[in-house]
Amino acid sequence: MIRHFFFLLTLIILASSCKEQYQTDRPDFVLVIHGGAGTILKEDMTPEKEQRYLKKLEEALTVGSKILRNGGSSLDAVTQTIMVMEDSPLFNAGKGAVFTAEGINEMDASIMDGRDLNAGAVAGVRHIKNPILAARMVMEETNHVLLVGTGAEETAEKTGLEIVDSSYFYTENRWNSYLKVKDIAEKHGTVGAVALDKYGNLAAATSTGGMTYKMKGRVGDSPIIGAGTYADNNTCAVSATGHGEYFIRNVVAYDISALMKYKWLTLENAASEVIMKKLVDQAAEGGIIAVDKDGNIAMTFNSAGMYRGYITSEGDSVVLIYKD
Ligand code: ASP
Repeated sequence: MIRHFFFLLTLIILASSCKEQYQTDRPDFVLVIHGGAGTILKEDMTPEKEQRYLKKLEEALTVGSKILRNGGSSLDAVTQTIMVMEDSPLFNAGKGAVFTAEGINEMDASIMDGRDLNAGAVAGVRHIKNPILAARMVMEETNHVLLVGTGAEETAEKTGLEIVDSSYFYTENRWNSYLKVKDIAEKHGTVGAVALDKYGNLAAATSTGGMTYKMKGRVGDSPIIGAGTYADNNTCAVSATGHGEYFIRNVVAYDISALMKYKWLTLENAASEVIMKKLVDQAAEGGIIAVDKDGNIAMTFNSAGMYRGYITSEGDSVVLIYKD
């Protein structure tokens, strides 16, 4: 009897020490963002332009981390973080979205909840001020995952989201890129955010104007769950940026999660396998940001640069543009 008691006691002590170790190892929260990957070269930047990008990335991280620090959810953090970048003309999402071949802005966005694999997305929307809010509305207020075009816009309007005239999305910079579409440096971009909150829940969100001079009606990877966005509490949360057609064909975000789940790869190795090997073999440019269930971070890209950054509850914070 006494032997049994001591055996049980040892088990309880062991179990609680494992739990404690797990809790101390995992940071309270992690937020990782990107503002698009591409041919972003230092020689093409002015110090002022560089500062503007870095400042906006910092602002996005500040807004999202405040939510997480106050005990908010990873879903709220990625939504609000994305909105900061959508509202900025610097990034190819919301205000600042690139133009289609017909000279209009058509935007895509998606969001995913790692707790239950619930997801929402919109594609080809032209009048929703913050497409990420529409993606979240699809997830939370409809029985569907993806709404497109006018259907998405009408539902967004009915649920009270802000609808704007298409002129809101005009920026001189994107119009000039449209006029000289051969300027590859400005051909794409996207914004993304992934987060781990103190409850251990992962979330991912992505928003984009797509690719400059894309065909009317073209949909990229950003609103495709598993391609541009994926989150599963058992593995990781991923948001992608790059040449969307390749990211769809390779189901990039899900592939990273699957490599972790079925092959036990670390987040870093899984991301590197997909971005630095698979995509490079296909000459496909782009990258991802990701955080895993233990708070490990990946910001992996095979292009010259990727606007990116992260912040953790431990006080680590960084914003970067180029490769180093
Ligand atoms: N992935 C986006 C798309 O293909 C563009 C980008 O991230 O640069 O629509």
